[in-house]
Amino acid sequence: MAKRAIVIGAGFSGLSAATALASKGFDVTVLEKHSGPGGRARQFSASGYTFDMGPSWYWMPDVFETYFAWYGRKPSDYYHLHRLDPSYYIYWGKDDYTPIPAGVEALEAMFEREDPGSGKRLRKFLKEAEYKYEVGINSLVYKPGRKLSELLEWELIKGVFKLDVFKSISKHVRKVTKSPRLIQMMEFPVLFLGALPGNTPALYSLMNYADMALGTWFPQGGMYEIVKAMEQLAKEQGVKFMFNAPVDGFEFSGNAIKTVICGEQRYEADVVVSSADYHFTETKLLPERFRNYSASYWEKRVMAPSSLIYYIGIKGELKNLAHHNLFFDESLDVHAEEIYTRPSWPEKPLFYVSVTTKTDASGAPAGCENVFILIPVAAGLEDNQDVRDRYYAMVMDRLEKHTGQEIRSRVDYLRSYAYADFVSDYNSYRGNAYGLANTLLQTANLKPSCKNKKVANLYYAGQLTVPGPGVPPALISGKVIAEEIYKDFS
Ligand SMILES: Cc1cc2nc3c(=O)[nH]c(=O)nc-3n(C[C@H](O)[C@H](O)[C@H](O)COP(=O)(O)OP(=O)(O)OC[C@H]3O[C@@H](n4cnc5c(N)ncnc54)[C@H](O)[C@@H]3O)c2cc1C
Repeated sequence: MAKRAIVIGAGFSGLSAATALASKGFDVTVLEKHSGPGGRARQFSASGYTFDMGPSWYWMPDVFETYFAWYGRKPSDYYHLHRLDPSYYIYWGKDDYTPIPAGVEALEAMFEREDPGSGKRLRKFLKEAEYKYEVGINSLVYKPGRKLSELLEWELIKGVFKLDVFKSISKHVRKVTKSPRLIQMMEFPVLFLGALPGNTPALYSLMNYADMALGTWFPQGGMYEIVKAMEQLAKEQGVKFMFNAPVDGFEFSGNAIKTVICGEQRYEADVVVSSADYHFTETKLLPERFRNYSASYWEKRVMAPSSLIYYIGIKGELKNLAHHNLFFDESLDVHAEEIYTRPSWPEKPLFYVSVTTKTDASGAPAGCENVFILIPVAAGLEDNQDVRDRYYAMVMDRLEKHTGQEIRSRVDYLRSYAYADFVSDYNSYRGNAYGLANTLLQTANLKPSCKNKKVANLYYAGQLTVPGPGVPPALISGKVIAEEIYKDFS
């Protein structure tokens, strides 16, 4: 008889784990607390607008190609991708923005114009980043992080200096250019991943390679198309889904889970993967004797930022904005400190604006725009309506001023989303949006383990374990854990 696997959560990592397990012959049931799949990447519709709730940057298209190829499929079997050009705009102030072109040649020329000589140095930087991407994405991220010996492969030892694990990305970037604008552009990808550039290993310049060389893409219909594709693929492999099914706990036989409890329902299990937030699984679903980590362990973790988000429908066209827009018109250093060093509501935050209707009209009624605004904020800050209203006013003031148009009077739909919503929707630890910060001490084997060491048949997937936050790592996380289970059970 096929072994019964229960997967808790239908976000990217849960979908990935469930599909991989089913493809290996497990009888898989996914239990998801929401009414549909997607987790942090869910979608909602209101007043004629359709909003992607979380991820909006489709980076590392090769990881998605690989994912679907595991099952003999291609992303294009399910959705249609566009490469964005410009990849994004960076706003520095009123009427002052840089469209970031797609493609390395155009970027080198842009660097050269801003800081003569830096174009050539960028080429070298990207060559090194390509190596890190190859080793990082094709090898390191597939390590389950259970044994140190995993890191003792000859290729990794040989490459350890080329991988720049012990140098900061901040120093690394400054070898390319002294231009403050170009530096900000090169540091932004790691900021959004979590942690200060000064504390992030230069290994993560692989994110610059993803940004600059591999490009920014968008699936027609929105990011939720990826979720739909993965759900369909999971079903094709035989995965069963139970929605509106919040898991409350487990029944044990000795040191193994026998039954997963979900309200009145009981699901027998030979193996369980929890892709719900790791901290929630440990502290709310497991009795103390079965937890991997203590309360003080969690208190010491550095979290990636939480987010304050506004989903906005706008009547009429928005000018001077691209699909992705970064507002770097205030100090990045001060905002980064307010996230990581002295967590507090930021005085003058940087923010990000996505207008998906610049690429895909389907997200809004005819002649209207679909807008998503995100302010990265420290994890764990209590929010309330006053705070949300204050930041809305602040961001709108700057958006209207810098892009030279009236926006507030045209708002047709508005919803905000922050700390309290992350906690209630995803059982998120300290309201984190993207899991743990990618510091050196929270990388690879130093992340919370993907296997519970005290419960024989409990595994973890998702952004708080290996390999880390982001959609591509979540896809990989599910696959890695399925491979571990397959090995352990055979
Ligand atoms: C605002 C935002 C913007 C982002 N932008 C990007 C981006 O542009 N590009 C990118 O690559 N990444 C981005 N990310 C990160 C990326 O979305 C996440 O890393 C990824 O979606 C996490 O997937 P996951 O499976 O680990 O977790 P989740 O998506 O949180 O999935 C966990 C699932 O478990 C369910 N669950 C929780 N508790 C229970 C329970 N008790 N019983 C049953 N089910 C339960 C939840 O409902 C959820 O569906 C963003 C994230 C956010 C929040």
